[in-house]
Amino acid sequence: MIHDILAQLDNGISALQTLRYVDTVQPFFYRFGLMGYDEDTYDALYWVIIGVLEIVVTYAALRPLEALRPVEAWHDRKAVRADVIYTWIAKLGIVNIAFFFILQPLFDHWQSLMAIYDVPNIDLESIWPGVTDQAVVSFLIYLVVLDFFGYWYHRWQHRFGVWWELHAVHHSQQQMSLWADDRNHLLDDMIQAAFFAAVSLFIGVQPTQFVVLVAVGNFMQSVQHVNARLPYGWLLERVIVSPAFHRRHHAVGYGHEGTRYGCNFGVLFPWWDMLFRTASWNRTIEPTGIRDQLPAPHGAARSYGEGVIAQQWVCVRAHRDASARKTFPRRWRDGLSAGDASNLKS
Ligand SMILES: [Zn+2]
Ligand SMILES: [Zn+2]
Repeated sequence: MIHDILAQLDNGISALQTLRYVDTVQPFFYRFGLMGYDEDTYDALYWVIIGVLEIVVTYAALRPLEALRPVEAWHDRKAVRADVIYTWIAKLGIVNIAFFFILQPLFDHWQSLMAIYDVPNIDLESIWPGVTDQAVVSFLIYLVVLDFFGYWYHRWQHRFGVWWELHAVHHSQQQMSLWADDRNHLLDDMIQAAFFAAVSLFIGVQPTQFVVLVAVGNFMQSVQHVNARLPYGWLLERVIVSPAFHRRHHAVGYGHEGTRYGCNFGVLFPWWDMLFRTASWNRTIEPTGIRDQLPAPHGAARSYGEGVIAQQWVCVRAHRDASARKTFPRRWRDGLSAGDASNLKS
């Protein structure tokens, strides 16, 4: 049944894709002599339509909850504006479009090399015929496998200095909302897209499944950032990442600091945090952000920029400022008390 629904949805989106393509894209490309790109653009358009649908569904589902049951009451939502722009950039597939033009030829090349040299890639669906080749089962397996890589990708974002400076764009939001998930450095978005496409290629994810995996993952991550009280309860909280769990990851003094450079790195499932002992179940509502954003003496009142362009440049400046790079980790370590460290293991 799920298969039928997805097939219907796919048909609808494909029809819309063809319509938009014939009406808008093709005349434009003919006019400017860009027909060499038309096939890639046709594929990219599919992502654009999925992205718009995602925004509409996410907003309709989560905005009423933010209005009715906010975790934090804000004087205004000015700080959220940049995140709305990030969401449109990400969901309209600007990164994906760049991905299609720049990385897709590279991946096609890899794929043909893998075929020529007979490089074995894992075919999860053939592991248990009759079970793992069922669409729902293989979908869940892919979701879990990709999430495992997602956990480690996220841990590395916090572990390595330059990478953290990119990821700090995401953590510098002190007003988390349904829009906050896509607030990322665009370079990091590109690296992430390449990383997950490579993993997906290796484990044999079909392109149609990849689209659904990304859409489901995106929705779950928007929910995690919502500024609304959503009590998941003991069990559900241990099955999927809850807003409270992810909020802890964004909490000043917890999420990024500590002996393991933070806690609650899980992207969709908290299982990897439980397995690798980086989970914190403490639900105390803490302010979110990065310690050096706090006013002195707790922090350095550092600004990570208010608009998208400023935020994209901050990490470049930080990278040039070698002295800043050296002092931040020590300050983070010093800022962590014994009590904080024990919370990490609870
Ligand atoms: Zn993070
Ligand atoms: Zn987040």
